[in-house]
Amino acid sequence: MTQSFDLQRYIQQLETLVNVDCGTRTVQGVAKIADILTPMFEQIGFSVTRHHVSDEAGPCLEITNKPNAEFYDVMLSGHMDTVFPEGTVAKRPMSLDEQKIYGPGTSDMKSGILSAWYALQQLSDEERDRLAIVVALNCDEEIGSLYSRTWIEEMARKSRRVLVCEAARTSGNLIRSRKGNAKYELIFNGVASHAGSALEEGVSAIYELSHWALAIKNLVNLETGTTMNVGVIEGGLVVNVVPDFAKATVDLRFWSNEEAQIIDDTLRAMAKTPFEKGASVEVNRLTFKPSMQPTDATQVMMTIVSEEADKLDIQYGWEDAGGGSDGNFTANVGTPTLDGFGPMGSGFHSDKEFLLIDSIKPRIDLLANVLKRL
Ligand SMILES: [Zn+2]
Repeated sequence: MTQSFDLQRYIQQLETLVNVDCGTRTVQGVAKIADILTPMFEQIGFSVTRHHVSDEAGPCLEITNKPNAEFYDVMLSGHMDTVFPEGTVAKRPMSLDEQKIYGPGTSDMKSGILSAWYALQQLSDEERDRLAIVVALNCDEEIGSLYSRTWIEEMARKSRRVLVCEAARTSGNLIRSRKGNAKYELIFNGVASHAGSALEEGVSAIYELSHWALAIKNLVNLETGTTMNVGVIEGGLVVNVVPDFAKATVDLRFWSNEEAQIIDDTLRAMAKTPFEKGASVEVNRLTFKPSMQPTDATQVMMTIVSEEADKLDIQYGWEDAGGGSDGNFTANVGTPTLDGFGPMGSGFHSDKEFLLIDSIKPRIDLLANVLKRL
């Protein structure tokens, strides 16, 4: 089933998807996106199952040509949510000029979902018969897939490989690896006392926090890429009281999951021996996303993608990205994963977000031709 590409139609479809407020917490908006996409995929012969993962989040869609398959040959991964609050669409709905399309979620990642929809239509009947394909669209990627992670991992375990349809870089680059990340909340407790009359009876939570901030700075290893940032601190109430409470929020990034574990062990060990006598420290890991690292099987996929990109005369490279995606989760369960199969874009999570119009068709063709090779 090949057909010529109608850019105007694509832009209309994109507009329908972008002009819905569908931030992760706007559950009805995410459901609306699922409502729009369901008949679209059904219309091209795919069956759509809606999964409920939480009352706090919208639905997830499992879209497949082989509803009874035990394994999928390939999983195309995407998310239906954005980072933008309700009211964003009213303020800045989709717009475009000669080169770019703007609007909330254009490249992150409504265009990637459309890429999947168009690429699937380029497969022949024989190819659709041969391949068991699942398009897995979740509802909460932008908050670290808090509710859908188990479902995503289940889909990935059932799949032989994963192609994530997040946007390609404006350089043309696709993504072969992504750093892992974690967020920690550190709670420091001390003993309050009057700074004038009973200073020595107090235990300062802020002094304890200060020791930790510098110790964390010393844990940073720029060579291996294990980095930490004490991003937010708070504590104390008034200037004449020794503070009995302080809190730090810390960001951790890493290429090596082992190094992340060592950091975690180190923080928990440090909490057992506070710097300030009488202080106590609580270490809470709020989020954790393992790193996405290429394996030998990933290299095989990279070769296929590179060959097909060369045939289409597409400019590209392989990027090691600092930020995470659901690809981190799918790679971590052992399924070879590559990312960046959407059209080229940038400015994600800001009002500068855009999509490069010239990249839409070539990137759909690339995805389709890669699928044909599997
Ligand atoms: Zn995204």
